[in-house]
Amino acid sequence: MANKDVTDPARMEKIVSLCKRRGFIFQAGELYGGLNGVWDYGPLGAELKRNLKDYWWRKTVQERDDVLGMDGSILTMEQVLVSSGHVGGFSDPMVDCKTCKGRFRADNLETSQCKEKPSVCPGQSPKCELTEPRQFNLMLQTNFGATGEQIAYLRPETAQSIFVQYKNVLDSNRIKLPFGIAQVGKSFRNEINPRNFTFRSREFEQMEIEYFCHPDDGLRLTDEWLETRLSFYEEIGIPRTKLHINDIPDGERAFYSKKTYDIEYEFPFGVQELEGVAYRTDYDLGVHQKGAGKPLEYFDEETKQKFLPHVVEPSAGCDRTVLALICEAFDEETLTDEKGKEDVRTVLRFKPAMAPIKVGIFPLLKKNEEQVRIARDIQKSLQKWMTVFYDDGGAVGRRYRRQDEVGTPFCVTVDFDTLGENGAELKDTVTIRHRDSMEQERMKIDALLPWLLERVR
Ligand code: ATP
Repeated sequence: MANKDVTDPARMEKIVSLCKRRGFIFQAGELYGGLNGVWDYGPLGAELKRNLKDYWWRKTVQERDDVLGMDGSILTMEQVLVSSGHVGGFSDPMVDCKTCKGRFRADNLETSQCKEKPSVCPGQSPKCELTEPRQFNLMLQTNFGATGEQIAYLRPETAQSIFVQYKNVLDSNRIKLPFGIAQVGKSFRNEINPRNFTFRSREFEQMEIEYFCHPDDGLRLTDEWLETRLSFYEEIGIPRTKLHINDIPDGERAFYSKKTYDIEYEFPFGVQELEGVAYRTDYDLGVHQKGAGKPLEYFDEETKQKFLPHVVEPSAGCDRTVLALICEAFDEETLTDEKGKEDVRTVLRFKPAMAPIKVGIFPLLKKNEEQVRIARDIQKSLQKWMTVFYDDGGAVGRRYRRQDEVGTPFCVTVDFDTLGENGAELKDTVTIRHRDSMEQERMKIDALLPWLLERVR
């Protein structure tokens, strides 16, 4: 496995620039100078993110008997977050530099950038004068009511609404332990140093599972979930060889956790966390049972045992996974033509299931009405099932390249053969061009939809 400290800033720069140029990700409020640590997904980014969330949901909720979905509110009662410990303790230790006026996470000094030149990092320049660490709460607060008398918070994680609704979900569904509740949604943290593009943002999406179980099963299920999650990343195109499992040692885990694995990915800016898989024991249900003063125990009909379920939590970052997908897919391939001339092809090698656009559809000649009509018909028949893109601008080679750059796995071209101008057996066939191999094959128009459906889900 690669050295954990290797970084490739030049590659990252190219990725960020491609994301903006092709409409994956823009800085929020860019027109007005930009909002730090907040991002908007453009047309292609929105498709990519949706594909990831849909796939996660399908694998986690739809295809399992033991996990139910929910969609909790973002606005969260103060009492919920008092009980969970967030109001009192959800903070990062921060230090201020009196010289450059920067503020940095005390546990992250070596990777932060100090504004004081030529200092490489804060605390290491002779000019840096750091204060003692102070705790900064990461929660974003808002107010309700005519005079704003009631405090609410934008949730810092999706998990709390799951714990708070655990009993309602249990009572309203015929389900037994062990079972999970899954949720995808926005979370907010007032990160002091948002950085590395979308990696550390102030508004982000999480994909979380709270898996409730008997206390005897917690450790085993934590290991099982780790494997399930690693397979998930492999399926979406992030190979196991690029993932690092950090088994957090005793003393470094949250005090209530008996086991925590961080799943980390080799980003171009270093090996960083994608997901945490934590065995949280009965801490969460315990604090809410106490805080609300209402019993949250589970009664096992078979054993006649009454107990507070334990929880295993695989908590993944949606935006971080999107970023990992883009970083993993990004490739620059040097091609040499017959004359020996070299050319660089930029290609995003997304798995078809993740690709924002599944098929590019081109008439070879924009001026040929029959080709255009057939290409438009193909577009209409396919777009009920998948995201397609019609393009008739410029040379077909250029159109292929434009689709390569955004990761479209297949392109369909309608040409003179399709019209039957070069023999009856080619009539009603089109060319399918493969993004990765650049090979082309001929296929009947009628066969396109089933062929594609098999490959793009
Ligand atoms: P970090 O140590 O990087 O701050 P964390 O350990 O605090 O992350 P958790 O509270 O365990 O993160 O949240 C679960 C997941 O949510 C993380 O693994 C990550 O993918 C995502 N996440 C957390 N904070 C952010 C953020 N500021 N921006 C984007 N994603 C985030």
